[in-house]
Amino acid sequence: MAILSKDQIISIESSAQDVLLSVFGNIDSVELPIKISEILEKYNFNLQKGKFKDDSVVGIYDKQNSTIYVNVDDPYPRQVFTVAHELGHYFLHADKHQEIYYRKELTKLDGENPPQESEANWFAASLLMPKKLILKYWELTQDIEKLAQIFGVSPSAVYFRLKNLQLI
Ligand SMILES: [Zn+2]
Repeated sequence: MAILSKDQIISIESSAQDVLLSVFGNIDSVELPIKISEILEKYNFNLQKGKFKDDSVVGIYDKQNSTIYVNVDDPYPRQVFTVAHELGHYFLHADKHQEIYYRKELTKLDGENPPQESEANWFAASLLMPKKLILKYWELTQDIEKLAQIFGVSPSAVYFRLKNLQLI
C-alpha cells in the first residue's frame, strides 16, 4: 500500500464521515453493518453484479454512467468493500479525468499500488468501519472475528483497519 500522509488520511476520514452523515444523519446511532445500498440510492448509483472477462478484476466504476460493477462470485463482505472502494473514487477523485476505474485483486497488481487506490481503500474502510465505532467495539470485544460480523466486512479488512489506526 502506498503511504498516505497524515493530512490525506484526515481528509479521507472526514469525507467518509460526511457521506455517512448525509445518508444516516448520525454516526453514533447508525445501524451496523452500514447499509451501502442506502448510500448508492442517495447518490443515484447503479449497482451491477456479474462476472468479468478478466478474472483478476474485482470491481469497476464507470463514472459517466454512475455505475459500479462487482464480481458476483466474490464473498458478500468483499463485494461490499469493493462498492465502498469505488465510491471512494467518486467522492475523492471527482477532479480526475479518469472515466473508468478497475479494481484488481491485490495479489495480481503489478508493482506499487497507485496512490488513488490506497486512498479509495482507506475511504472504504472508514465508510464501513467508522473510526469512532471501530474504536468502541474494539475496546469492548478485542475480537477481530466479532468485529468482522458486526461491521459486515472480512476479518482481514478489520485487521488492516485496526493496524492503520495503530490499535494493534
Ligand atoms: Zn480503485
